[in-house]
Amino acid sequence: MSLAYFYSVYPALTHFAMLVNVCAACSRVCREEKFCIQEYSPMGRIDFDIVVIGGGIVGLASAYKITLAHPHIRIAVLEKEDQLAAHQTGHNSGVIHSGLYYKPGSTKAETCTKGRKELIAFAKKNRIPCKITGKVIVATTKKKLPNMEMIFNNGLENNIEGIEKIGPDEIREIEPFCTGIAGIRVPCTGVIDFGKVAEKLRRLIEKKGKANKVLTSHEVMGFNKHDFYTSVVTNNGAFATKYIINCAGLQCDRIARMDGLNPGIRIVPFRGDYHELTEEACEKVKSLIYPVPDPAFPFLGVHFTRKIDGSVECGPNAVLSFKREGYGKTDFNFTDTWQSLSYWGTWKMFRRHWRYGLGEYTRAFCKKLFLQQLQRLIPSLGPDDIKPGGAGVRAQAIGPKGEPIDDFKIERSKNSIHVLNAPSPAATASLAIGDYINEIATEYFNLR
Ligand SMILES: Cc1cc2nc3c(=O)[nH]c(=O)nc-3n(C[C@H](O)[C@H](O)[C@H](O)COP(=O)(O)OP(=O)(O)OC[C@H]3O[C@@H](n4cnc5c(N)ncnc54)[C@H](O)[C@@H]3O)c2cc1C
Repeated sequence: MSLAYFYSVYPALTHFAMLVNVCAACSRVCREEKFCIQEYSPMGRIDFDIVVIGGGIVGLASAYKITLAHPHIRIAVLEKEDQLAAHQTGHNSGVIHSGLYYKPGSTKAETCTKGRKELIAFAKKNRIPCKITGKVIVATTKKKLPNMEMIFNNGLENNIEGIEKIGPDEIREIEPFCTGIAGIRVPCTGVIDFGKVAEKLRRLIEKKGKANKVLTSHEVMGFNKHDFYTSVVTNNGAFATKYIINCAGLQCDRIARMDGLNPGIRIVPFRGDYHELTEEACEKVKSLIYPVPDPAFPFLGVHFTRKIDGSVECGPNAVLSFKREGYGKTDFNFTDTWQSLSYWGTWKMFRRHWRYGLGEYTRAFCKKLFLQQLQRLIPSLGPDDIKPGGAGVRAQAIGPKGEPIDDFKIERSKNSIHVLNAPSPAATASLAIGDYINEIATEYFNLR
């Protein structure tokens, strides 16, 4: 069929298709409006079958899993920064979580355990440095014991290998400088550099198909919707695609709205500041030491992490950030702040947790108070043992009643999938989240 002929009959074909659910490309009657998309849009060729927005670990793992399951699919990952993993993926603690914290049966619990095993195998196969160091969760007061018990039981229900309750002497045996009244030993926790995983995923996606692209410095600014395709407008040109997968992390609610979906949540950014132990103080931490977290909050509490490069990081705290992608303590962006503070959910959350929030804020600006928090786990730490480190910003979805959304949240609209909440342990779980997104895409995008 010549292009001129195609364009002349295109409007009639699509009109007919809309009326009787007949696919204009293959002439079959389609179920539930699942049209197979034409190779040609009125503007010209369809550039990609799927465009994934966001070059963090969730976007890359999803694209990778789709290319594995559907090698014929042309897929693009668009990342606005000039490098991959520029935000949450590149600013996290680098911990491969075991999966014991999460509510049994939740998507977090299921994908974390599965994703952890797959991530370790992936790292080994692709020679990405990764160490299974184990960790201890330490209760420092009697008040923490019921929560510790609850976490341990979650761990049993989630089938976390080798976890055991330990007493003060065993805590000292594992971490000689740490004190606590009881703890949980978690042997299957490890450390990795998630940025390196992201880079490897990029290479594998591009290797899988000549038409596949992972493009940095491509910020998605809007969508032009057409009957059978969407034009994704970026600062570096537009791409015609059949389907969209939104994995934009801190910007995911905005992308969802751009696509016409009311996400029902708002991303409220929480910055986490880290300190590092000095070289001399590093010997005080062998592997990973965590406190018992408060179940009212989605954060795990300030912890010690011996990272894959051997340095020891302590943090992160959790304070409301006035800039979604701001890593400095005084960073400010008017739109980001307005969108957080004009949302009722944020105020409802403040009303409930203002005491906790105030405590976190004072600790963020006062080294002495931050140190006191660390000394609960390692009493011998002194002010000269810590120095300022990096920071990360968490994309925490908050519901309209002020509730932090605990589980991963993935929504579907007609030709799009939106990842609307992928907080920790999404980096650990990324390969399993990729499988999950591939399943949704296969069914709803009718991939063949
Ligand atoms: C401080 C901190 C510590 C953490 N510790 C751990 C841990 O130890 N272990 C663990 O498993 N998890 C941890 N997490 C969680 C984990 O890092 C995240 O869950 C995970 O990285 C989320 O990945 P993502 O791809 O969804 O988001 P991101 O990594 O934020 O990626 C989203 C990408 O989308 C891009 N983007 C946004 N808007 C656009 C646009 N318009 N056009 C194109 N691109 C766009 C962004 O630039 C970004 O690169 C931590 C998170 C933080 C913040």
